Amino acid sequence: VPAYVRITRGCNKFCAFCIVPYVRGPELHRPPAQIVDEVRRLEDQGAKEVTLIGQTVNHYVYADGGKTVSFAELLQTVHDQLPALERLRFLTSYPRDFGDDALDVMAACPRICRFLHIPAQSGSNRVLRRMNRGYTVEAYLDLLTRARARMPDICLAGDMIVGFSGETDADHEASMQLLRQARLKSCFVFKYSPRDGTVAARRLPDDVPDAVKKDGPSHCLGQLVDVQVTRATPLTLFADLVSYPQAPTSAAADNLRQPA
Ligand code: SF4
Repeated sequence: VPAYVRITRGCNKFCAFCIVPYVRGPELHRPPAQIVDEVRRLEDQGAKEVTLIGQTVNHYVYADGGKTVSFAELLQTVHDQLPALERLRFLTSYPRDFGDDALDVMAACPRICRFLHIPAQSGSNRVLRRMNRGYTVEAYLDLLTRARARMPDICLAGDMIVGFSGETDADHEASMQLLRQARLKSCFVFKYSPRDGTVAARRLPDDVPDAVKKDGPSHCLGQLVDVQVTRATPLTLFADLVSYPQAPTSAAADNLRQPA
């Protein structure tokens, strides 16, 4: 029985297309002891697998009394303090904050699933800047390389947005190139549409024709990777991706409505 434990809430990233920082506020991180207790309680109730969730889950950091617990240390702690838990997962990771320390813990802990969902959103540095994503294509690929160097069998998945404001054919080709290099196991492609209240909706024109968003880039991207193109809610997409055998808990749903 899978179960979900929220470890962080809110987001500080302010991607141009995303409403999360405005509706959820800044990141708040739960104390490690509270997280371990909740995982233990779920395990006592029969959970074999627990997924730690947050909008940018790998940005977890908890400071208390001069001591800081990083995401890597939290993973190690949950893994070590719950030796009967069969599988530990986490969703969703943000490319800029994924340090080697967390990858090392994943590689060393046999009950942490070797799976990373890391949204790239675009393969064009120009578009990534317009999106205010805060990383480059090179940094994204470097993360995949670091992960595969430690875990050759790791399963990597991603998200892409097609038709973001100002996206050109050259930007689209750059996304194609990224997917060729990334060799993701699966990728969800979101057709861009402005969300009220976001920076993109206020300041950036929605200038890629709908037909191009729908039939051009998404079709081409689909030739390169196991892509699911849909206008369904991100919650549905995440549910498909991680094969939830049952509907996520309300806490999980609360955290999975937006791509990271
Ligand atoms: S897309 Fe993800 S990282 Fe960016 S602002 Fe939204 S929740 Fe934060």
